[in-house]
Amino acid sequence: MMRTDGLPAGDPLAGVSVRTGAFIDGAFVAAADERTFADTSPRDGRVIAEVARGSGEDIDRAVRAARRCFEQGAWALADPAQRRLVLLRLADLMTEHSEELARLESVDVGHPISDARTVDVVNAIRCFRFYAEAIDKRYGEIAPTGPDDLALVGREPLGVVGAVVPWNYPLIVTSWKLAPALAAGNSVVLKPAEQSPLSALRLAELASEAGLPDGVLNVVPGFGEEAGEPLGRHPDVDKIAFTGSVAVGRRFMRYAGESNGKAVSLELGGKSPQIVLADAADLEAAAQAIGWGIFYNAGQTCHAGSRLIVAREVREELVERITAFAGAMAPADPFDPATQLGSLVSAEHLRNVMDHIDRARRDGARVLYGGQPAEPVAGGAYLGPTLVEADDPALAIVQDEVFGPVLAIQTADDADHALALANSTRYGLAAGLWTSDLTTAGRMARRLRAGTVWVNSFDRSSMATPFGGMKESGHGRDRSLHALDAYTQLKTTWIHLA
Ligand code: NAD
Repeated sequence: MMRTDGLPAGDPLAGVSVRTGAFIDGAFVAAADERTFADTSPRDGRVIAEVARGSGEDIDRAVRAARRCFEQGAWALADPAQRRLVLLRLADLMTEHSEELARLESVDVGHPISDARTVDVVNAIRCFRFYAEAIDKRYGEIAPTGPDDLALVGREPLGVVGAVVPWNYPLIVTSWKLAPALAAGNSVVLKPAEQSPLSALRLAELASEAGLPDGVLNVVPGFGEEAGEPLGRHPDVDKIAFTGSVAVGRRFMRYAGESNGKAVSLELGGKSPQIVLADAADLEAAAQAIGWGIFYNAGQTCHAGSRLIVAREVREELVERITAFAGAMAPADPFDPATQLGSLVSAEHLRNVMDHIDRARRDGARVLYGGQPAEPVAGGAYLGPTLVEADDPALAIVQDEVFGPVLAIQTADDADHALALANSTRYGLAAGLWTSDLTTAGRMARRLRAGTVWVNSFDRSSMATPFGGMKESGHGRDRSLHALDAYTQLKTTWIHLA
């Protein structure tokens, strides 16, 4: 269980409770070997829970429960209108428990509580409602045939889906996987990141309360090699929906190839450029969007706009404005409702980010602002906004995903140069572009190799738009009706009428 006994009234977790076993076949259970791991809050370094440490045996139990329930058909074969009702009930329960979910999320990963309340929980709820409402409104097809045949083309669930997610937006990314997978009728085994298991466990409990049959959703917390790999290699899993790093994404492709050839969809990292051309209409608006685009969630966002590529003519003014924005965003206690920048996810991750900054310095890049850890709450893992001038496109700080509040700044001579710089990394998740010329915008948007291109904005989205990457950022798409295709397969039923 979570350790909440004796917490003072003002503590973020006072009055919050979540069960921390593995959730398998509708019940919380200890890991088969009874091991647990300590879940630490990066807000202050405190251990907040002992969580079941899943391994191969637990994954196998969960997959067997998921398969049994899929074959029985209580969920997979249910009227889509029934699945809709259960998922809408889940969304209602999440709304009812939204403060609790927000606190769990904030304390587990260091998100500012105001973002957890107004972004994470709200978007997770919206996601469940979106797929619940979509699922009983999708039609199949009738293929063109001669008069003596009737060929029906429909979509069926895949079977057992393994979902493996990262820690940066636990509730949102988990919902992006679970909502379409469950709406489509699959059973799911979810492995949350070891840094952030709590909101997923509470979500599973709420799903059960909403009427999801036992075995449809299973959550096995634990570490990558111990629980993630057995899930990736399990011969009775039909698909892995993965979000995380490029290196681990590639492993999942190998696990699939070496086991049963299961489908794998990958949502991976990024090094997204934010391009500002000389004719950008409003440099202050650009500076604010660029600041949010990299510093929001302390830069731990897959599509964080971590590279600024700015036209020489406006560079000085824009960097000045972004520096002013950064100066107003000092890291602070995530549980203070006024905080805009919380902690990084762990002390270990803070060390990784500092290593990137130190390497940039050694490589000859110039730290223009920030670059030093802070400690607004004793024992926590904090770093303020950091600006690094790095004109050499070969530098590691320009090429590698840092996953912290660090903006690498490059100067471009013109639009073609900016485009070449923007496309010069192995990633292709997202890009931003600021210009007042519609023709330039349209031409560059076409040539930017990124799954999403924002023009005169950054990070605007809705459930209606697909999200995912090109190049080494992966090939999956979360959100939108297209995501349902990734959790279903086509079935042809040919009826001979003669
Ligand atoms: P990660 O790849 O280290 O871990 C992701 C998940 O994989 C975790 O659940 C982890 O336990 C598991 N895992 C780790 N090693 C494993 C192994 N050997 N076998 C099986 N499973 C294993 O990533 P992270 O550090 O948790 O998250 C940050 C990364 O996620 C960044 O690269 C970020 O860009 C990416 N991300 C991408 C998107 C997107 O939609 N494209 C969204 C959020 C995060």
